[in-house]
Amino acid sequence: MNAKQNMAQFMSGLKRRNPSEKEFHQAVHEVAFDILPYIESNPKYQNALLLERLSEPDRVISFRVCWVDDDGNIRANRGHRVQNNNAIGPYKGGIRFHNSVNLSILKFLAFEQTFKNSLTGLPMGGAKGGSDFNPKGKSDGEVMRFCQSFITELSRYIGPDTDVPAGDIGVGAREIGYMFGQMKRLTNKFSGTFTGKGIEYGGSLIRNEATGYGAVYMLENMLLHHKQELEGKRILISGSGNVAIYAAEKAIQLGAKVITMSDSSGYIHDKEGINAEKLALIKDLKVKRRARISEYLNTFNAEFYADQRPWHVPGDIALPCATQNEISIDDAKLLVKNGCKAVVEGANMPTVKEGIDIFKEGQVLFAPSKAANAGGVAVSGLEMSQNSARLSWSEHDLQEHLKKIMHNIHDKCVSHGTEKNYVNYSRGANVAGFIKVADAMLAYGVI
Ligand code: NDP
Repeated sequence: MNAKQNMAQFMSGLKRRNPSEKEFHQAVHEVAFDILPYIESNPKYQNALLLERLSEPDRVISFRVCWVDDDGNIRANRGHRVQNNNAIGPYKGGIRFHNSVNLSILKFLAFEQTFKNSLTGLPMGGAKGGSDFNPKGKSDGEVMRFCQSFITELSRYIGPDTDVPAGDIGVGAREIGYMFGQMKRLTNKFSGTFTGKGIEYGGSLIRNEATGYGAVYMLENMLLHHKQELEGKRILISGSGNVAIYAAEKAIQLGAKVITMSDSSGYIHDKEGINAEKLALIKDLKVKRRARISEYLNTFNAEFYADQRPWHVPGDIALPCATQNEISIDDAKLLVKNGCKAVVEGANMPTVKEGIDIFKEGQVLFAPSKAANAGGVAVSGLEMSQNSARLSWSEHDLQEHLKKIMHNIHDKCVSHGTEKNYVNYSRGANVAGFIKVADAMLAYGVI
């Protein structure tokens, strides 16, 4: 069988076993495209069904989550945890609360997480969880009751050596606090079952900043490797949540000019650049007041485009930091046409598959999410180490660890992804992430 037939057979099996799960198909296809030929050329990995086993989660847990709203009505949501693979360490991955959450999205995220966590070099397996519960517009009391009910069920399946969840879309410090508190109450143990915790109760410094900062460190490494610099570059950022805010903060600190940010209602374009003072307003609007980004225009000069994404704006670098599939084929074409030099995925799988091909054809440097946003889970891994040792490391030490981890991830991508005149960061990340997990799986035999 040739490589094309091999791929077709693999994908048709995956689609048959997981019908209608298009995000999951997309994520596995992207990895299989690089990994199946790699397995084919490395006898050690042949005849072990490694990719088939990696794309079949160890287990999927689904459950009902009942809670009572402020008006006394009973509400019912659905919760899930996908534990994809724990070959190299306890399951680890975020929890997402958003009305779009379904099993296809969580399976894609858990699968990706397995490779991402491997790339960090830390001992963490891959998982993801969440619910179709939407915290937007809910009172603190409603969010607390939902989180407590969610954890009452999930607590049976997680623990510091089993599965360590963290935040994701819709799950920030408030939600982690409620979930960790309920876990502590149910188990009567103060253990490191969650990361992204508050500093007062076992959290790590720079965890909030880590994903966004890490993405910009990755970008810095990529530019440096290609003899370019970040200073003065015009950056398009989508999103204004945890990842976007800290990506903007680090880019500004390093002398770049951030000209767009967005939320689910549209994007702002500030031609003068969003500086530290303006970013402080965005933090206040989005994190504290949970308001719309368009309110930025009440204080600073900018344009607001409702229900649009920022990819029409000419810029040197794109940092998609909102959600999956937010760069369409047309967006990718436009970015290339406008001279974009690099795309670094802060969000998980923000570029559609064909968009990635367009970037590669256009020789645009492209860092896939599993490499670019691994800084968050890396610092989560460091939070687990601090919890086990009952120590807190300094901000300086953690920043140095994060920089070093992102530098190593960059180098692994280069060493496994360098083609003639182009570094294929996707291939590099897929192969490097695969090797460690595959070697551990081989060591265990058939399980
Ligand atoms: P947040 O909830 O903090 O922020 C999400 C941002 O994206 C908000 O600005 C939100 O707008 C916007 N957004 C969400 N959904 C959509 C949509 N369908 N269309 C347009 N805009 C949307 O999430 P995070 O910043 O934590 O996560 C962002 C991405 O990064 C996700 O893909 C996540 O999986 C990934 N990620 C996060 C990590 C972390 O450490 N937090 C780690 C690794 C990856 P609004 O405010 O209007 O809802």
